[in-house]
Amino acid sequence: MSIELHHFINGKKEKGDSGRFGDIYNPALGEVQSRVPFASREELDKTVNAALSAFPDWAATPPLKRARILFKFLELLNENAASLVDLIVSEHGKVREDALGSLTRGKEVVEFVCGIPHLLKGEFSADVGSRIDSWSLRQPLGVCAGITPFNFPAMVPMWMFPVAIACGNTFIIKPSEKDPSCMLRLAELASEAGLPPGVLNVLNGDKEAVDAILEHPEIRAVSFVGSTPVARHVYQESCAHGKRVQALAGAKNHLVVLPDADLEQVTNALMGAAYGSAGERCMAISVAVVVDSVADEVVDRLKKAITGLKVGAGTDPSSHMGPLVTGDHLTRVAGYVQTGVDEGAELVADGRGIKPEGFEQGFFLGACLFDKVTPEMKIYRDEIFGPVLCIVRVPDFESALKIVNGNAYGNGTAVFTRDGDAAREFSHRVQAGMVGINVPIPVPMAFHSFGGWKDSIFGDHAVHGMEGIRFYTKLKTVTSRWPTGIRSGAEFVMPTMK
Ligand code: NAD
Repeated sequence: MSIELHHFINGKKEKGDSGRFGDIYNPALGEVQSRVPFASREELDKTVNAALSAFPDWAATPPLKRARILFKFLELLNENAASLVDLIVSEHGKVREDALGSLTRGKEVVEFVCGIPHLLKGEFSADVGSRIDSWSLRQPLGVCAGITPFNFPAMVPMWMFPVAIACGNTFIIKPSEKDPSCMLRLAELASEAGLPPGVLNVLNGDKEAVDAILEHPEIRAVSFVGSTPVARHVYQESCAHGKRVQALAGAKNHLVVLPDADLEQVTNALMGAAYGSAGERCMAISVAVVVDSVADEVVDRLKKAITGLKVGAGTDPSSHMGPLVTGDHLTRVAGYVQTGVDEGAELVADGRGIKPEGFEQGFFLGACLFDKVTPEMKIYRDEIFGPVLCIVRVPDFESALKIVNGNAYGNGTAVFTRDGDAAREFSHRVQAGMVGINVPIPVPMAFHSFGGWKDSIFGDHAVHGMEGIRFYTKLKTVTSRWPTGIRSGAEFVMPTMK
């Protein structure tokens, strides 16, 4: 009998009522290890009521006091880092060091919002008219919700809830049904840090819970991170129900290699960015656009580097890359490898059929490398989300830029070159939200914002940094005059300074 997980509502663990469940795997072993309840609409109503009741007091709690709870939460994150990493590795499968890195990235968002008294400061103008002052302030929205993907079970939720609650909102998070345990533990730790009941709730579920969130009249804002088709649905439904929405979506990130690049640096960058976390990263590099004159050498170097790549369980410190998240996902990604072969791309490295010793039933796929991929191929157009790197050969810089800008996605991109002029030109003209210059995964820090362009985002706001503060607050502008101010009688025209 596998373990049964729960929701976390109003400061308490709650068993699921709906009778519907999803299986959670240990991907290295290929076995079901627990099951997670799928919430019904009634369970969402109950959770929204808890968050609504908690909102007035939490919104009225001085930001400095909210910050103190966040500081305590940060301490607990540090004390519990090893066990949180264990939860990520056991359900997602990524290697421990990488899981720790992603937890640290999430913690940095908490560190950022510990400065919330400063971040919420508004603007003030004295004497916008005679003895009339004007100032602005940011106020919380109310109950907000987050819906997160499987690939970063700690970091992506932490892009959302620390910012939302620091701003004075209450929050409901619906984590991925594939690996929700880390988020459940984060909510317990936040509660232990002193967060009042109902401020942060975790509701597990599938499409039914998500659609109920999008339609609920008391939820003011929705943050989503996941694949493009679901992001589009979340954006459209949230808008149709009058909500503020930010929906970060899928990706196909290109790394352009110009002929003067340092090819050792390029090889290391491509290996880490294409195969780290088994390619299950929204910022993974899945396409290398290589100028012809150096393409053979890049392919040779990658081929050699792949022979040294250790694929194994995330718990094994010598593994560079763990399994894929589920058997279904493995089948899907391996299917794309076959599609690439059928489409006529050259399969230089084939990771299919790999079985690390002791983990023969795990969802493993080794590194796959395709050369001579063209933009018409399905393996080029679709987001595969696995350890599959495609090489597209081009004659020059302009054709490389055209390929990158012609792709439907625009999450991240990178250029490798020693030529500052070319790098500047690339960073100015490329249609993507995050650009690396000799940096393969240009992920901004918590005090900057994160988000793509084109089909990689729906909605106007990126996450965290000042964008996050703006997303989770409403701007109010107050104009005031006191009785000692000039009395001018009734004014029937627009007052202006003459
Ligand atoms: P997914 O879209 O399948 O699931 C994301 C969330 O949506 C989950 O909580 C899931 O339960 C829910 N969901 C799934 N199908 C739904 C449906 N039909 N209706 C309503 N809700 C639904 O994504 P995933 O497989 O968990 O994560 C991988 C995807 O996330 C990739 O496309 C990746 O690029 C993307 N991602 C993007 C970013 C970014 O910053 N742009 C970051 C991380 C992941």
